[in-house]
Amino acid sequence: MGERQAFAADVGRVLDLVIHSLYTHREIFLRELISNASDACDKLRYESLSRPELLGERPDFEIRIVADKDKGTLTIADDGIGMTPDEMAANLGTVARSGTAQFLETLSGDAKADSQLIGKFGVGFYAAFMVADEVAVFSKKAGVDSTWVWRSDGRTGFTLDETDAHVERGTAVVLKLKDDAKEFLEAGRIKDLIRTYSDHVAFPIRLGEPGEAPGAQTGEPEQINTASALWRRPKSEITDEQYTEFYHHSAHAFDPPLTRLHFSVEGVLTYTGLLFVPSMAPFDLYDPHRRHGVKLYVRRVFITDHLDDLLPRYLRFVSGVVDSDDLQLNVSRETLQKNAIVAKMRQGLVKRVLDELERIAKLPTEEGSPDYLAFWEAFGAVLKEGMYEDGANRERLTKLARFRSTHGDGWTSLEDYAARMKPGQDAILTISGDNVEALKGSPQLEQAKAKGVEVLLLTDAIDDFWLPVSDGFDGKPFKSLTRDAVDLSQIEGGTTDEAEAPVDDPTLDRLLARMKLTLQDAVKDVRRSKRLTESAVCLVADEGGFDLRFERFLKQHKQLDALAGRILEVNPTHPLIRAMAEAPDHEAERVEELARLLLDQARVVEGEPLPDPGAFSRRMGRLLQASLQPSGTAP
Ligand code: ADP
Ligand code: MG
Repeated sequence: MGERQAFAADVGRVLDLVIHSLYTHREIFLRELISNASDACDKLRYESLSRPELLGERPDFEIRIVADKDKGTLTIADDGIGMTPDEMAANLGTVARSGTAQFLETLSGDAKADSQLIGKFGVGFYAAFMVADEVAVFSKKAGVDSTWVWRSDGRTGFTLDETDAHVERGTAVVLKLKDDAKEFLEAGRIKDLIRTYSDHVAFPIRLGEPGEAPGAQTGEPEQINTASALWRRPKSEITDEQYTEFYHHSAHAFDPPLTRLHFSVEGVLTYTGLLFVPSMAPFDLYDPHRRHGVKLYVRRVFITDHLDDLLPRYLRFVSGVVDSDDLQLNVSRETLQKNAIVAKMRQGLVKRVLDELERIAKLPTEEGSPDYLAFWEAFGAVLKEGMYEDGANRERLTKLARFRSTHGDGWTSLEDYAARMKPGQDAILTISGDNVEALKGSPQLEQAKAKGVEVLLLTDAIDDFWLPVSDGFDGKPFKSLTRDAVDLSQIEGGTTDEAEAPVDDPTLDRLLARMKLTLQDAVKDVRRSKRLTESAVCLVADEGGFDLRFERFLKQHKQLDALAGRILEVNPTHPLIRAMAEAPDHEAERVEELARLLLDQARVVEGEPLPDPGAFSRRMGRLLQASLQPSGTAP
C-alpha cells in the first residue's frame, strides 16, 4: 500500500462545506463525475488529432455507469485522457482552481449563506464524498502503460498505488456508497438523474451490469442520454432545464443563468454558439487569472477552453461553447492566437452579448424577468473595463452603464441623468471616491447640491481609467467636481447668492498669497472656489492632472512619491475665511496656523492620512485652548 498523503489544508474545508451545504442536493455528485468523464474524453479526442495512436483499437468514446448491488459500489468510467499518479495527487488531492482558498476565507459559518456562495464555484470531484465512505479512482494515462489507483475516505488524506486491475483506457471512479445512499444503485434512479442532469453530454452514457475490471460492463448496456452536442440541436428540442444543466456543466456554476444566447451564423463564417451570462458573480471574478468560460469546438470536437482571444477580458463572466466550421480540425492551440477567423468570431460574439444586455436592460422589472440592475451590481465594474479598453464599443457600453448619483438611492442610466439635467447645464458631473455615503458629504458637491444639479457618485477604481478616455454621453462631456473647473453660474435656481462674493477682492487675494507662502509645496496653489457654499476649504486636482482619487491610487501603488498636484480651494464667503482675510498684521502667525489646520481638515474630508498627525494635533490643541480663553489674550 502506498504511503498515506495528507490533503492540502483547504481540501478538508471544501469537503466539510460541500457535505454540509449541499447535502440536500447530494445527487449532484453524479453529474459532477459524469462532467469530469466528459471533459476527459474531450481532452483525449483533441490529443488524438495529432497522435491517433493514443486511441489504440477503440476510436469511439463512451461513459460507463455500473451499479454493483452485491458490493454496494457505483462506478463511473470513461475512455478519456486518464491521469498519471502525479496528476491524481495534484488534481484530486488539492484545491486546484486558483482563488478557491481565498474565497473560502470569506465564507461565514451560516449554512444558508454558504449554500448561496457555493453557487459561485463548482465543487466537482469532492461531491463524491457526499454519498461515498470511500472513493477509489483507477486511472491509466493515455500513452502510458501502467495503471494507478488513488484511494481516499475524503477525510484523512489519500493513498496512491500501482495496480494490476485492468483499465483499457481512461479512468474509473468507484464509489463505496454510504448506507443511506444505496438508492443510487437503483437503475431507475440512475437513469432519472442522467436524463435530468447529464443529457447534454455529447458522449453516450451507458448503464450496464458489472464486469470483472473496474468500470467494465457485461451484457447489453443501455444508452441513457441523447449523446449529441446540445448546441447543435434545434432550439425547439431543448428545454430550459437542459440549457440550465448545460450552463452548470460548462461554467462550473450552480446559479440560474441570467440569460442565454443560442445562435447559428452562416455566411462569411459559419459557427454555432451557445453562451450564458451568469446571474451571480463567480468568486474569482477579479482574480487576474480568471478567464472567460467559452470553450472552442471545431465541428463538434473540443479544441480548447483557454483561448483568451475569443472574448475580451471585460466579458470574462460569459461561458458556453463556440463551434466553428471554418477552423481546421488539426489547428494547433498556438496558431489560434492572432487568428483572423477567431478575431472575426470575437467581434460577432461581443456584438451578440451586448445586444442581449441591451435587450435585458430595457425589460420592465417584473417577477421572473431577468434583473438588469442586479446584473449590473454584480458585473458592472467588469463591464466598465470595456469602456476603457474597447474603443469600438465604448459608446454602447456607456449606454449600458448604471450609476449611483445624488438623485435618490438607486441606479441611474445616463439617459435618465440627461433627462434630469438643468437648463444651462452643459456637462455630466461626477465625483469619485471610495463609497457612496462619504461622497454624498463631499464639500466639492456643495454648490451643485445648492443648485439642485445631479452628480454621479463613482466608486469603482476602474472609473479613473475610463473617464479620461470617454467621449461623454450624447454630446455632453463628463466633468469631475474634484478636478475640473465647473461653472454652474449659468444654472438657474438654488440657494446660493453669487453676488455676495465680489470678483475684485484684494483682501482675499492677500490671504490667498499668504496661505500659499505658508503651505509651500504641500499644495500646488491656493485659490478661490466657486464650488463651496458651506465648507471653508476643499482640495481639488489640477485641471489636466490626475484626479484626486487616482493620484492617491498611484501613490498607494508607489507610482508617485507624493500627493503634490493638488490645489486648495477657499470659500470666499465663509466667515472663517473672511476673518482670516481681515486679520491685522500682528496676527499673521495665527492665520498661518489656521491655514495649516484647514489643509489638514481638507485632507481628512478626502479620507487621506495626514502627513504629520502629531503637528496637526498640537495645533488643534492650541486652538481649542485659545477658544476657552477670554478674547484678546490668545497666544
Ligand atoms: P473541475 O472539473 O472543475 O476541473 P473537479 O474537482 O471536478 O474540477 O476535477 C478536478 C480535476 O481532476 C479535473 O480538472 C481533472 O484534471 C481531474 N479529473 C477529474 N476526473 C477526471 C477523469 N475522469 N479523467 C481525467 N481527469 C479527471
Ligand atoms: Mg469537474
